[in-house]
Amino acid sequence: MTKKLRVGILGATGMVGQRFIQLLEHHPQFEITALAASDRSQGKTFQEACTWRLAGEMPAFVRTMKVEAPQPPLDCQLIFSSLPGDIARDSEGSFAAAGYPVISNSSAYRLDRDVPLLIPEVNPDHLALLDSQRAGRGGHGGFIVTNPNCSTIMLALALAPLHSRFGVKSVIATTMQALSGAGYPGVASLAISDNVLPFIEGEEEKIEQETLKILGKVTAANVTDAPMDVSAQCNRVNVSDGHMAALRVKLVQAAGIEEVKAALASFTAIPQELHLHSAPAQPIIVREELDRPQPRLDRDAGNGMSVTIGRLLPDNVLDYRFVALSHNTIRGAAGAAILNAELLVALGKLNL
Ligand code: NAP
Repeated sequence: MTKKLRVGILGATGMVGQRFIQLLEHHPQFEITALAASDRSQGKTFQEACTWRLAGEMPAFVRTMKVEAPQPPLDCQLIFSSLPGDIARDSEGSFAAAGYPVISNSSAYRLDRDVPLLIPEVNPDHLALLDSQRAGRGGHGGFIVTNPNCSTIMLALALAPLHSRFGVKSVIATTMQALSGAGYPGVASLAISDNVLPFIEGEEEKIEQETLKILGKVTAANVTDAPMDVSAQCNRVNVSDGHMAALRVKLVQAAGIEEVKAALASFTAIPQELHLHSAPAQPIIVREELDRPQPRLDRDAGNGMSVTIGRLLPDNVLDYRFVALSHNTIRGAAGAAILNAELLVALGKLNL
């Protein structure tokens, strides 16, 4: 049996960090050998530092591991990061400079022009940026690959087959985002009970900017943004897990509704061809029921890695409208980063 790659988790005690631990517990290619978090947690065992907030028990293998500072060196070959954006820039940068591949879930480097903002099904060609990133940042052998914001991943995955087949001219997205997206403790219960909050700091900008980069064209050292207009309005709703978005799309080339449905439902890409461990058989599931998708019923589709689409209809203002839903801490965060790492391994990009 091939030896597993030793990985470190930055932000291990958080909502996304806990998902990393849960998803990696029985992973065939990666084993967790280092955990890092803030100085509130450093020096403690993981079970002293972390209140486990996912269903089931805290995995036994992490309980006695010591939580360390998110700075090199750590006893691992690869870093998964789920640090807050403001901390991540310095920490992830220092790991990359010390020669570690950094697979980040934070926003800090997503829009840097030499950093791939990767969804393996959508833009694996953007990994071409790694050569210029390595050369431009000192040739130290380390690098940073990021995954998009949790709502952006769902939006870009849903748009990708439409964009490649018909071209997308414009998209309007109205999100309904789960509470776990704000980390723990997140939004105060008295603010969200019996309520919807029409503001999530930075989220609309992230969706509008990141989507253009993900669907853009890569050159040796840069990405040219996709020529489309994206408009996003984001709302926090009283749902534990699972982000939803109502989307309206205008296409460049006319397409019938059956063609649009077929493009979405039949979409597969390199992760499915390579049978990557975390790749869902169907990245996009199209449901016909009038009242789907719903967070409670559909967030775990494809082990939390599929985007579920429903309510696909012609639209009176743009061309088509539909509702998309995906699991924000799996496809939208930890699962996305793990799939990115699986692709890097499969393509021989890690040089370890
Ligand atoms: P969270 O639950 O608040 O966890 C934050 C983690 O970062 C904890 O491990 C915390 O450690 C650590 N941390 C906080 N301040 C630190 C500091 N000054 N130095 C070192 N470590 C520090 O947040 P989260 O929801 O997991 O989100 C983590 C990152 O993933 C964020 O960048 C977020 O934007 C991104 N993200 C989240 C989601 C989601 O659905 N939740 C989706 C996509 C992306 P302590 O426990 O020691 O404080």
